Amino acid sequence: MTSRTEFSPAEALAAVKLRIEQARAAAIRPAPFTTLVAVSKTQGEDRIRRLLEAGHRVFAESRVQEAKLKWPVLRKEFPDVQLHLIGSLQSNKTREAVALFDAIHSVDRPTLADALKAEIERSGRSPTLFIQVNTGEEPQKAGVAPQDAPQFAAYCRSLSLPVQGLMCIPPANVSPAPHFALLLKLARAHDLPLLSMGMSDDFEAAIKFGATHVRVGSAIFGERVQG
Ligand SMILES: *Cc1c(COP(=O)(O)O)cnc(C)c1O
Repeated sequence: MTSRTEFSPAEALAAVKLRIEQARAAAIRPAPFTTLVAVSKTQGEDRIRRLLEAGHRVFAESRVQEAKLKWPVLRKEFPDVQLHLIGSLQSNKTREAVALFDAIHSVDRPTLADALKAEIERSGRSPTLFIQVNTGEEPQKAGVAPQDAPQFAAYCRSLSLPVQGLMCIPPANVSPAPHFALLLKLARAHDLPLLSMGMSDDFEAAIKFGATHVRVGSAIFGERVQG
């Protein structure tokens, strides 16, 4: 038995990867690939380093400030790391976000699209962008409402923003499947190849609906103390 103190992120990572492969094998129409994005928010450098040493390279943080503190050091050692932002982004942090992140999953309003466009032009850096869709239309959650997604996608396109996918966080305590199905349908309608959906509790269901990016935190790192 592995005790709590012996919990190994590298072993948990391997177990999650295996479950991803099994879910892909069982899916009728899996995406061409499914990238495991390890969500390292609230995790210290030492735990993250264990995954890096095990060969993992794709990570996500939900806050720009926290990522700025943790990742520049780790990146020096592991320059091929890919860092994703999965939390909401304030327009005034756009510059820092574009400098730090290789992908941003939370594009959800015209003012942010405008700020990203300006910063991408200024910096010459071009992170992969996902539009966040509030599939459950929950007032406390970020994201565009599903009925507003077509108009917002068209707006991003008019700016030539490099939007390539959609992201959602289904409501807690309901079956996530209809939310994943809705995101898939919207992505197809707008010719967006990437789908960021599925977390520790539901990534296998998301893979069934064509997830290209699953965002997994606690199943790899154990329960978070905070956040
Ligand atoms: C924290 C977080 C995750 C990871 O959640 P787990 O349940 O720990 O896997 C995924 N996506 C977003 C947007 C998050 O904020």
